[in-house]
Amino acid sequence: MSHNWDLVVIGAGAVGSAALRAASESGAKALCLEQHAPAHERGSSHGLSRIFRHAYFEHPDYVPLLRHSTARFESLERESGVDLLHRCGMLVAGPPGSEVVAGSLESGRRWNLAVEALDAATLRARFPWFAYPDDAVGAFEANAGIVRPEAAVHAALGAARSRGAELRIGTRVRAIVEDATGVWVETDAGRERANAVIVAAGAWTSRLLPELAHLLTVTRQVQAWVAAASGIDARAMPCWLVDRGRLEHALYGLAPDPVAPMNVAEGSSPAHHPKVGLHGSSDLVDPDLGAAPVADTDLERLLRAYRVVAPALAGRVVAAATCLYTMSPDGQFLAGTRRGARRIHFAAGLSGHGFKLAPALGDALVDLAIEGRTELPIGFLSPARFAEVGSRS
Ligand SMILES: Cc1cc2nc3c(=O)[nH]c(=O)nc-3n(C[C@H](O)[C@H](O)[C@H](O)COP(=O)(O)OP(=O)(O)OC[C@H]3O[C@@H](n4cnc5c(N)ncnc54)[C@H](O)[C@@H]3O)c2cc1C
Repeated sequence: MSHNWDLVVIGAGAVGSAALRAASESGAKALCLEQHAPAHERGSSHGLSRIFRHAYFEHPDYVPLLRHSTARFESLERESGVDLLHRCGMLVAGPPGSEVVAGSLESGRRWNLAVEALDAATLRARFPWFAYPDDAVGAFEANAGIVRPEAAVHAALGAARSRGAELRIGTRVRAIVEDATGVWVETDAGRERANAVIVAAGAWTSRLLPELAHLLTVTRQVQAWVAAASGIDARAMPCWLVDRGRLEHALYGLAPDPVAPMNVAEGSSPAHHPKVGLHGSSDLVDPDLGAAPVADTDLERLLRAYRVVAPALAGRVVAAATCLYTMSPDGQFLAGTRRGARRIHFAAGLSGHGFKLAPALGDALVDLAIEGRTELPIGFLSPARFAEVGSRS
């Protein structure tokens, strides 16, 4: 039997959970449909930690959205009573002229963020875990750190449900059809009727919005928790990203999580160790088939890079997992209202940097769905920037 909903959200990952929370705050009668489970291991929002930061080399226009998102994570912490953020700082370093370092400093200048410019001597003195060439440059933002993805997704869904929103897991949406008065949401368990729909389907977006398929590429990524070589205390480490030049993937690391719950059987958690990854492998994945499991060759490649960047840290791999990036052609998100539609809104192509921004995307999409407009500056994310596909946002 179908019901009438103000809003149906498709996907209970980073964006969908944030959208459901925002919808519930607005008093909308909202339903979230998830094909697997929230923050499951075949999507993009698992792995115990994500970096959040505000000095943004990817594009300075994200900074207002980043500030908004961090404030929303903080309010979710207060509402849920769950610690979601650990402020350990974020270091970026690279060769002279590094766009990552220059872009971080530039966004800091433009938006008046506290970001320090560092030379090689300062980098060595303050962040001794890494090997720097004599001409290395860096930037450090203290108001950055890790956000706990599974905890954040569950907290947002919990907050939404406590205000009456409904979450249905194990339900796959097959199609969405907009007509003059609403949207039919066809699922494998029947159909729902909604005034508006938010597609927050991550790697599966092009199944529901096929017009975006040529802009979205789903790739397999490997994240590994690596014990620091003996005698090194990694707990004081920040999150970090090292720009290894245009021809190499950047290597990034996340600080150990001081409050990660113990795995009872082993007496520790992978999250007690630094997590490292190479940003942006290009192995294509069909999300329904899933990514190939982590192989020795993946870990060898990762450790080879890690030993060069942080020889004193690169010890034993404690755990490893795959995860999906959904890349857009320029590495920036796609968000707005579906072209030719009024009631279908989406965020997609989060390109490996979307978790920290999910609250702003969720809020903006709910604004579009309920008010028909948003004050949040997401216009630069419209797919209209690619000639072939347009969107209003
Ligand atoms: C290894 C790795 C490291 C990362 N590091 C960072 C980082 O440090 N900082 C950062 O900000 N970001 C980072 N990211 C990126 C960030 O995690 C993602 O951009 C973000 O989690 C994507 O959220 P999403 O809601 O778009 O997708 P997901 O969280 O995958 O959610 C989409 C959901 O929709 C469901 N779904 C899809 N289709 C349907 C359907 N038809 N019916 C019902 N349900 C459906 C899926 O099952 C899934 O649960 C990283 C990503 C990876 C993989």
